[in-house]
Amino acid sequence: MKRRNRGATRLFAALLTVVAAMLSATAAAGEGGGQNQFPCTSTTIRAGALLPELAPDQQLLADDHVVWRDPQTGQFLLAFSAGIKNLGAGTLNVVGYRDSVAGNLPNPNTMPAYQRLFHADGSCDELQIGTMTYHEVHHHWHLDGVMTYQLLDAKLKPVKPNSKVAFCLADVAVADSTLPGFPTAPAYNGCDPNARTTYVIMGTSVGWEDIYDKMLFGQNFDVTDLMSRPQAQYFIRQTVDAAGIVFEQNDANNTTGVWVTLGIGVPYSTGGPRPGV
Ligand SMILES: [Zn+2]
Repeated sequence: MKRRNRGATRLFAALLTVVAAMLSATAAAGEGGGQNQFPCTSTTIRAGALLPELAPDQQLLADDHVVWRDPQTGQFLLAFSAGIKNLGAGTLNVVGYRDSVAGNLPNPNTMPAYQRLFHADGSCDELQIGTMTYHEVHHHWHLDGVMTYQLLDAKLKPVKPNSKVAFCLADVAVADSTLPGFPTAPAYNGCDPNARTTYVIMGTSVGWEDIYDKMLFGQNFDVTDLMSRPQAQYFIRQTVDAAGIVFEQNDANNTTGVWVTLGIGVPYSTGGPRPGV
């Protein structure tokens, strides 16, 4: 009797799985075709829009950077973490959507990105702000160009090519829980890993911060050449939204940086980030 019951339960569970699969297939089909979910009623910024306010995390950069030497290749990397805080009146909400892709994925695999600005009554304005691209190394969707890294010499002249970095925006850490509108639980929890998706949503809530750790791919400069020269001062500069594509309260506070010493005899770690990880 017990055995039969268990068998029946298992059959019921299997049926439920089939029904669930059919339902999720229906839902997935509904998301296809470039369908924007919860579209805004306005495509211009109306008065009263609650703007986000992006700012780089100076303290995180100051606390969390390292010179690392790859024991195998001898390559020196200057690796650093980066944070983007939202200290504004409104959430940073970005969506991407496109028609479903048949066959091979385009290369680069991109879709247009739109920023949603919310109002106190819950309505929103939606404006295109650039593109999202699927990142093959990180395995998720990024908002392109949201951060720029520069390495400058003592006269603030560039010594390395700028790296424009894309982020998958999320609520990673609390930046300021006293701000009006701060949600106690993170609202943007994950990065979409589906390369074929037709709809992506990402963002950073009021009082939250997105963090890219120094261990991640792209969070470093190759300073092998500079470490074989006499010691000198260099400046790591981080600029949020250098191109000014994101609508926010203040574009004048988007840059931060930290001075570092590089050159012969400067201590380094061998337990840090690895290129390509
Ligand atoms: Zn990423």
